Amino acid sequence: MSHPASIYCYHCGRQHPSAEMRQIDTKGGKKWRCIKSIEATKKNAAQRDAFGKTVTMVNKAEQQARVKARLDAERLQTAG
Ligand SMILES: [Zn+2]
Repeated sequence: MSHPASIYCYHCGRQHPSAEMRQIDTKGGKKWRCIKSIEATKKNAAQRDAFGKTVTMVNKAEQQARVKARLDAERLQTAG
């Protein structure tokens, strides 16, 4: 039998239908992993990236607001 009905998924630690499996290259060689876990990992990575970008943008905005507030304060002190 060249096409087994199910293949062991190293990520989940159990077998899935072979149609849901993809062979991927890892440091330890070629391994079988299910599409679901691959997609889930991709999604998590994308969410992490999006979250990281949002945090960076908020930090930048806060820093800019602080700088502007300080400049405004200095301008008021030196004016007149
Ligand atoms: Zn799996």
